[in-house]
This record gives sequence, C-alpha cells and structure tokens, in this order.
Amino acid sequence: MFDGDVLKQYLISQGISKVGYTQVNVDEFSSLNYGIALVLKLPREAIQALIDDEFKKYWKIFHGQIDTLTDIAFKGEKLIKDNGYDAFALTMKRNECDMEKLLSKLPYKTLATTSGLGWVGRSALFVCEEYGSAVALSGILTDMPLEVGRAITDSFCDDCEECQKACPVDAINPTKWNSRLERSDIIDIETCSEYVIDQFKSGLGCSKCLSNCRLTQEYFKNKR
Ligand code: SF4
Ligand code: SF4
Repeated sequence: MFDGDVLKQYLISQGISKVGYTQVNVDEFSSLNYGIALVLKLPREAIQALIDDEFKKYWKIFHGQIDTLTDIAFKGEKLIKDNGYDAFALTMKRNECDMEKLLSKLPYKTLATTSGLGWVGRSALFVCEEYGSAVALSGILTDMPLEVGRAITDSFCDDCEECQKACPVDAINPTKWNSRLERSDIIDIETCSEYVIDQFKSGLGCSKCLSNCRLTQEYFKNKR
C-alpha cells in the first residue's frame, strides 16, 4: 500500500536527509492541503569553503544541492501522481521570492518547522540538531493524506549566541525565534542583505551565521 511511510522511504532512498509532513493552507494551492518538507544536508566541504572564504566553491556546491533537491522533488511529485493523488513540487523556481520582502510564497522554513524537523535559529536560518544550518530546503504539496509531524514553535537555541557574535554587521537581534514572532523581530534583513550584496560585488559573500552556528560546527567536526 502506498502511504506516507513508503513515500518517506522513497525520498530518503533518493538522497534526502530529512522528510517531514505538515498541513498547509495557501490560497494559491488550496486543493493541496498537505506539505512535504525536504531537507538536504550540505556536504562538509561546503562548510570548509565558507570557512576559507571560497564563495565560488561554496555556491557551486550549494547550487548542486538545489539541483538535486529539485530533481528529487519532481520524482516525488511523479510518484504521488502515479498513485492517484495530485502533487506539486514546490521547487525554487515555482516558489517565487518577493524580492522586496525577501520572502517566498510558502517559506520552506515554515514547511520544515511545522513538520517538526527543526526550528528557526537566532540567525533566522533553519536549524536542525543533525546538521545545524548546513542544509538546503525544498518541498512538495499534495492532497495525499499524510500523518503530520508535531510542529516546532519555539527555538532550541537555548543560551547559544554564536551566530549573533559572528555577524559582522550586528544584523542578528538577541531575541530568540518563536512562531508568533515576525522575522523582523529576530533579524535586520535589510542590513544583512546590503552587506551580503556589497560583499558579493567584491567576489565574496557572507554566511558567517551559517558556518559559525554551534550545531553546524558540531556536524562539521563529525560529532553528529
Ligand atoms: S549572512 Fe552575514 S550579515 Fe547576514 S545575518 Fe548572517 S552573518 Fe550577519
Ligand atoms: S549559532 Fe546557536 S543561536 Fe545561532 S542558530 Fe546556531 S544554535 Fe541557534
């Protein structure tokens, strides 16, 4: 019988690191009321590239992971449709980002936290115990009934402030995330993006909050 467990096993067999299920309510996709969160870990060499300020190398690896996620999301979509349900792979191209608000239609972080796969760190990045913020995210929407995970609504960052200390422009607020807050409560996204764009013009970038995340470092040092 094709069910959520079979689907999860399939997605993991294709290379996805973590899979979670949640209910969604997005106007544009009103008939597809289940969301599948896909988390793909970044290889340790991507973190090493960030530590070494080798941004070209980092982006090459990152975009390779996005291509892999896209490929697997479409395979998941096909498998679900082959089993009689509707599905829509919510790939990056299909989940347009509002460049003014710097927010997509359905943020992947929302899919992943409401599925119970992790939380939003002080850095405003998605964080999970196994890989910290060293992940790429995607999703699939479907009308296939799925047993949903228990949503995470509060931060597990505890007293850690590593990402905040690492930010060169103090864009990260001391406030810890919870699902009732707005993004602007935890990060000054304009200050962050202005700095990242400036760095980018010089052939660099900034992902210090990602590479310095305590849990990213634990993953990088192979403690997990
Ligand atoms: S990307 Fe850089 S500037 Fe932006 S929040 Fe992270 S550390 Fe700060
Ligand atoms: S560095 Fe610490 S505070 Fe920042 S996201 Fe990671 S665990 Fe949370």
